[in-house]
Amino acid sequence: MVYLQSKVAVVTGAAQGIGAAIVERFVAEGVKVAALDVNGDKLRERWQTAGDQVVAFECDVTDGELVKRVFEEIYSRFEKIDILVNNAGITRDAIFHKMTEAQWHSVMDVNLTSMFHTCQAVIPAMRKQEYGKIVNISSVSSWGNAGQANYSASKAGVLGFTKTLAKENGGKNITVNAIAPGQIDTEMTKDLPENIQMMALMLTPAGRLGDTSEVASVARFLASDDSSFVNGECIQVNGGFLMV
Ligand code: NDP
Repeated sequence: MVYLQSKVAVVTGAAQGIGAAIVERFVAEGVKVAALDVNGDKLRERWQTAGDQVVAFECDVTDGELVKRVFEEIYSRFEKIDILVNNAGITRDAIFHKMTEAQWHSVMDVNLTSMFHTCQAVIPAMRKQEYGKIVNISSVSSWGNAGQANYSASKAGVLGFTKTLAKENGGKNITVNAIAPGQIDTEMTKDLPENIQMMALMLTPAGRLGDTSEVASVARFLASDDSSFVNGECIQVNGGFLMV
């Protein structure tokens, strides 16, 4: 059994919400974390008391050249990356016939194309070291959600991307899995109209929003050797909202 303690992880969108909860969980297990977020001030403020176990990197993951430079810096500082959690995500909701091209592209860029950049930055080294755990944050919206054609398409794209990388790299002791959270209590869901929030609660057998720590627990599982024979999978964390 290989323990998480000796591992190095990169988590994107780590200044708040689900990403921050995943960093917290990793830190508790002794993982060294490179925490990335587009908002450098918020990120540094969030992790300033974490000591040298968390290093903050301001990074817009839609910028391929910047991602390359930041990952080079992470490799020179930590010498390896064992775990990558692709968590950064945004919504730009609109009913499809009123959706702008800018809304479409911004969501695709942050939620899906970012994973192209980050995975390209780690997979060659993971294949060489014959070890890697990649966890991609998808969404229950992958199965369709009115007002979220862009978001649903990006998150369903994450699932196809995840399964493909799992097939390509499974022979090199690399697992690539996804998590599809339902309604989780974060800044992202606070912005939703009250009627939408009420409807989601009514359709969730648990009768409550999920906590970020409940997603982090599953990320921890998929990032550890406890899930060594789980590959190309998507784990739902939605309180029973959707059962597939
Ligand atoms: P939050 O908005 O609370 O946090 C997301 C973080 O990602 C923010 O700090 C945000 O910065 C950052 N971010 C945004 N764009 C970029 C970028 N280009 N580069 C780097 N960082 C960026 O979201 P959640 O914690 O709620 O969501 C985390 C993930 O979980 C997302 O992928 C989301 O789609 C997914 N998810 C969330 C659900 C929920 O109910 N909360 C349900 C299903 C899936 P800033 O605030 O400055 O934009």
